[in-house]
Amino acid sequence: MQVPLLDLKAQYKTIQDEVKRAIDNVCESQAFALGPAVAQFERNVAAYCGVKHAIGVSSGTDALLASLMALGIKPGDEVITTPFTFFATAGSVVRLGAKPVFVDVDPDSFNIDPAKIEPQITEKTRAIIPVHLFGQVAQMKPILDMARRHNLVVIEDAAQAIGAVQDGVKAGNFGDCGCFSFYPTKNLGAFGDGGLVTTNNDGLAGQIRALRDHGQKPRYFYHVVGGNFRLDGIQGAVLDVKLKYLGQWNEKRRRHAALYDRFLSDSPVKTPRINANNRCIYHQYTIVAPERDKLQQFLADNGIGSAIFYPKPLHLQDCFSDLGYSQGDMPVAERLCGEVLSLPIYAELTPEQIEYVARTILEFYEKNEDEIRC
Ligand SMILES: *Cc1c(COP(=O)(O)O)cnc(C)c1O
Repeated sequence: MQVPLLDLKAQYKTIQDEVKRAIDNVCESQAFALGPAVAQFERNVAAYCGVKHAIGVSSGTDALLASLMALGIKPGDEVITTPFTFFATAGSVVRLGAKPVFVDVDPDSFNIDPAKIEPQITEKTRAIIPVHLFGQVAQMKPILDMARRHNLVVIEDAAQAIGAVQDGVKAGNFGDCGCFSFYPTKNLGAFGDGGLVTTNNDGLAGQIRALRDHGQKPRYFYHVVGGNFRLDGIQGAVLDVKLKYLGQWNEKRRRHAALYDRFLSDSPVKTPRINANNRCIYHQYTIVAPERDKLQQFLADNGIGSAIFYPKPLHLQDCFSDLGYSQGDMPVAERLCGEVLSLPIYAELTPEQIEYVARTILEFYEKNEDEIRC
């Protein structure tokens, strides 16, 4: 049996007529940069997220960049975030001349450990960027309390968490703003790049709307220097079609995850730990696995795709060497980079495929029982 890590064609097949019609409408209108299709998607995604403003932008990276710009992050400022995330979380901070300050993660949720944040706060700290990794919202209450006490802004990196819920509230509502990505492999994927900023703050929404179009307001009058962070009309149209199905796709991922949990409960691998106040959307189903690299090879030999998110923590990346971190500074993130493995979890998988992946994992550990201690 073949089980790819992700099969975007399987999803496309289920919606292709509707998507083609939506793209065709944009072609007829020739409104390719922002325009009515983007405006309609913004209204619908704002309603879905339960948020006052949703501002379509060119990518998740640009959502972070525009948010940091709008919140006034400037050279010399410090921004606290996690080293166990996609590069863009910290890359966008550095692009503004600010300094990412890394705080190690919690070994169960893989998200920033709130208890370790406060000692890293200095008089230069301006912001915290918690990342809702793999579809599970970071523990926001302690983070928001801390931010209030120290007068810091909070930007949620919710690129992997559209539709995820904590204490009944959807991702993108907790911080000053939330940043989402519609990179094709995300739970809500565009046909190219796309992103979104959510906020409940009217002033901030206005600033981000201006910033995504070079800071102009009205046209050809510039009060601040922004960029070209616009979302394409075609992407808005595709995303608006897909948004209708996001709830059921996320629900299927949750069902797949529950199946994996059950099959792997007595195995040497650690299955995802979801905090009781969270409803995870499983952007990834990520296990902590002894002999990870050998397991990944064994899965590949048996037709099963998997991936390592992420093989190297950000504080040890070459481009951040001037920040002065070294091996051992973030022991949990460093250990996870050597042990995590993400399994196929996309909506269109069958229960038979999930069972096959789980049985293959069990088979690997049975074969290697003597060598493996976890
Ligand atoms: C995907 C992702 C981004 C960047 O989004 P792009 O749309 O690829 O620019 C940022 N942060 C996290 C956590 C992501 O997973």
